[in-house]
Amino acid sequence: MCVLYDNFLYFCSSIMMKKRIAVLGSTGSIGRQTLEVISANKDFFEVEVLTANSNANLLIKQAIKHLPNAVVIADEKYYENVKQALSSYDIKVYTGNESLAQIVEMSTIDMVLIALVGFAGLKPVMNAIRCRKLIALANKEVLVGAGELVMKTAKENNTSIIPVDSEHSAIFQCLHGELYNKIESVTITASGGPFFGKTIKDLQHITPEQALNHPNWSMGNKITIDSATLMNKGLEMIEAKWLFDLSPSQIKISVHPQSIIHSLVHFEDGSVKAQIGLPDMRLPIQYALSYPFRLQNQYKRFSFSDYPSLTFFPPDTTTFRCLPIAYYVIEQGGNMPCCMSSANEMAVEAFLKGTLPFLQIAEVVEKTIQQIPFLATPSMEDCLDTDRESRLIAKEIIKKQKSKTCQ
Ligand code: NAD
Ligand code: MG
Repeated sequence: MCVLYDNFLYFCSSIMMKKRIAVLGSTGSIGRQTLEVISANKDFFEVEVLTANSNANLLIKQAIKHLPNAVVIADEKYYENVKQALSSYDIKVYTGNESLAQIVEMSTIDMVLIALVGFAGLKPVMNAIRCRKLIALANKEVLVGAGELVMKTAKENNTSIIPVDSEHSAIFQCLHGELYNKIESVTITASGGPFFGKTIKDLQHITPEQALNHPNWSMGNKITIDSATLMNKGLEMIEAKWLFDLSPSQIKISVHPQSIIHSLVHFEDGSVKAQIGLPDMRLPIQYALSYPFRLQNQYKRFSFSDYPSLTFFPPDTTTFRCLPIAYYVIEQGGNMPCCMSSANEMAVEAFLKGTLPFLQIAEVVEKTIQQIPFLATPSMEDCLDTDRESRLIAKEIIKKQKSKTCQ
């Protein structure tokens, strides 16, 4: 009764005071869908800050539509363009990576939704946590690279990190009301990506266009390639470890090509809770924004008649080498997940540019891990160093692979 009353008061206050949201990475796939959710729920949310890396035109359009207090265009080349286009509006315009990290400190922000890609999100996440903002986190690479630090800082500052990633949102939703109950394990589901069922031989001449053609989800380029290599599941295992305080042996992966069951939690009495829904990222985004409430929407509904059979398979770790690499680094801990993730960022970039074959993404990551000195409890500086060194090593390995392929 008391909890219900508290929730009711929270609900009333959130109606009276709109949640003011900073959307970091607003021009990307998650960022754009977040703005769609906000537009459909103007009574509950308003946009306080928008940021982009280099897509100045879309940032300008978004700013004119949502009228935030401030925008950041990280790439300084586009600053004059954005400033000029927004000169007749009451919108502050900033540029550079420092501004991106500092903008989250604005006192008028209630929640920061972080939809940047890669380790570049670390500084803004840490600053937002230190300023005790509510965090909605899509940018999984931050938790993979510095999960221990991020979670420890969030605890010290009494700040919640609400997952946006669909699998983690599913686990988060299954855990609602289970505060006193032990988790036996979680099963993270994987679509299997565009190459589910293929062999190494089939994957020898994969082009970026083929790898970018995901069967169920429309996402940014980096995560789409990670889904094709299954590295995305490796990153998500590590993300789950930190978000839900799990040991590696508690985290299982199951390939579920329909992407309807987003993940499952197994409790110690043998009960299993699953969260089910159509593959639509607006649902976990909306839940992260409105938590602990659910808001009505008009999105297409799930029906068993559209999905008469839901299937499940073990992952193919022989063909998809990134997954066993992730199993290895999650067991090792320390700075190894950071190294894996940063080397993967470099390898994916090279694959997308056409300078690294698809199957060599795993090879670059594996070789980089072998060359980085192990640190058991990395500090923030250690994480930043590991990221920097891993990128340099991976770059050299990619260069060597390229010259071998050209010979
Ligand atoms: P995206 O590439 O579509 O968008 C990334 C956004 O971040 C863009 O606005 C871009 O301008 C900005 N950005 C990128 N690098 C930056 C940098 N160095 N500095 C400043 N801004 C930068 O990516 P996405 O698909 O929206 O994914 C965002 C994050 O969410 C990733 O970590 C991804 O793994 C995670 N995620 C995405 C999905 C999805 O459906 N797209 C689902 C689950 C998790
Ligand atoms: Mg996911």
